[in-house]
Amino acid sequence: MSAAPSRTSSTRTDLARLIADARRLVVFTGAGISTESGIPDFRSPGGVWSQMKPIYFQDFVADPEKRREAWARAFSGRAGWTGREPNAGHRAVARLVASGKAACVITQNVDNLHQASGVPADKVIELHGNASYASCLECAERHELADLKVGFEKAGEIPYCRRCGGLVKTATISFGQQMPAEPMARAEAATLACDAFLVLGSSLVVYPAAGFPLMARRNGAKLAIVNREPTELDGYADLVLHDEIGPAMSAAAPAN
Ligand code: ZN
Repeated sequence: MSAAPSRTSSTRTDLARLIADARRLVVFTGAGISTESGIPDFRSPGGVWSQMKPIYFQDFVADPEKRREAWARAFSGRAGWTGREPNAGHRAVARLVASGKAACVITQNVDNLHQASGVPADKVIELHGNASYASCLECAERHELADLKVGFEKAGEIPYCRRCGGLVKTATISFGQQMPAEPMARAEAATLACDAFLVLGSSLVVYPAAGFPLMARRNGAKLAIVNREPTELDGYADLVLHDEIGPAMSAAAPAN
């Protein structure tokens, strides 16, 4: 039921040229790059949050039953965030990072697919965390979901930190939870250091994340947006391509 692509003046060739001309590119990704891997856009109609109510951070911390529900969801895989494979769009981004063209990837996604496609973890700046593992809310100790799942399914145990006994939660940023300071600071520094900022698959409506493209533009960087639908910031961009991410990026950043 996808609409016909909008007629825009930019082409995949223009995108290839913008990437070629960039000396220090930053790639910014949203849900649209991962829908091609079968991961639903959780804010769209029919997305995860239209089917089940989000559990707010404050409720997770305060209420054991909310924690139980959150873990049941996480282990059921209903959100569809984990266990998927990177697609052509992720692989094109990975090539840009590997070649040194792209300094880093800032992502709103929690699906770990940039790392799975070969981008080093230290070059992925996750604004909303990561759903593929869990961490302690007190000491940040990392816990693997597979380990936690055993106790939860066998004995109904809600996970606690093996190191400090604190509450453990999937490493995503929940509704009501503060944006993580360190990734936000890294994303800002990267944005201000780039000469081209490439948005892939974000409708750019969720702030503060959507502030980064504007920050880059105001700082003098070229702004390119590739998204199936028009975005809030199309009017500010040097290049707008309403296109599928995988095919567009495969053409603009082809494998050798
Ligand atoms: Zn801990």
